[in-house]
Amino acid sequence: MFKVLLYYKYIELADPKKFRDEQYNLCARLGLKGRILIGDEGLNGTVGGSEESINEYMEATQKYPEFSDIEWKISYTEEDPFPKLRVVVRDEIVSLRTKVSVKNKAPYIEPKDLKKELEEKGDEIILIDARNNYESKIGKFKNAIAPDIDNFREWSEFVDSIEDLKDKTIVTYCTGGIRCEKASAYLVEKGFKNVRQLHGGIVRYGEETGGKDFEGTCYVFDSRIHVPVNSVNPEVISECEHCKKKIARYINCCNAKCNKQFICCEECEAKFEGGCSEDCQAKSRYKKVEAEHQA
Ligand SMILES: [Zn+2]
Ligand SMILES: [Zn+2]
Repeated sequence: MFKVLLYYKYIELADPKKFRDEQYNLCARLGLKGRILIGDEGLNGTVGGSEESINEYMEATQKYPEFSDIEWKISYTEEDPFPKLRVVVRDEIVSLRTKVSVKNKAPYIEPKDLKKELEEKGDEIILIDARNNYESKIGKFKNAIAPDIDNFREWSEFVDSIEDLKDKTIVTYCTGGIRCEKASAYLVEKGFKNVRQLHGGIVRYGEETGGKDFEGTCYVFDSRIHVPVNSVNPEVISECEHCKKKIARYINCCNAKCNKQFICCEECEAKFEGGCSEDCQAKSRYKKVEAEHQA
């Protein structure tokens, strides 16, 4: 069994490079794998390992005064969640192309309060998904606006397209909350008057409320690909890209040059030999034949 952590904190770090080395050494010593981004603006990580190693990592990281109150999101998985360890220094721990000050972030709404507000005055609240299109495709809040963006750097263009919602009651959400700190700040800076952000994201909403009215599953950036959220009124919203059957199943295209992650049922995976299109199917077969000839 592997324990998986998801965590972030925006805080000014005096020496990101030094902290990077300390985090790397700590993770390497404990045998943890995953991805940690460190910048002047803080820390953003997801790592996995044994229960004891993860506990030791949490304890060691919390010894830094800056991170004594960091919020951990914890889950478990049978499969090794990450192939390797990457600890890197970046300008931004979440990149939004446009400069935004997280000091302008919108106030939080707690999961249980969001659930209550959705029950009481659901149609007055506009939920906006701050994640990418491939994430919201497999799961999102019922009736939420999910921007068709491939990358968070396109957020500002998306916001330009929703100018007419400036006076509406808006709640933004993302996986664990980190993107909403900037996404909501950007909305506030652009003159949106009534914005809040879901504290702890979809992950905490699922844990604390049972995930009511979150349709589908939550995309995650590890080998699990997506995890369940809603145990109250679950639904499947994603469709097999070949036969359009409702299914929550992502695979990677068998054509190494394409490698697109796409939603595909088991029958169509067999029928198209793992290809996302007939073209990719053909390329996959060709490669196999070629490999046999070379052997
Ligand atoms: Zn299918
Ligand atoms: Zn393909």
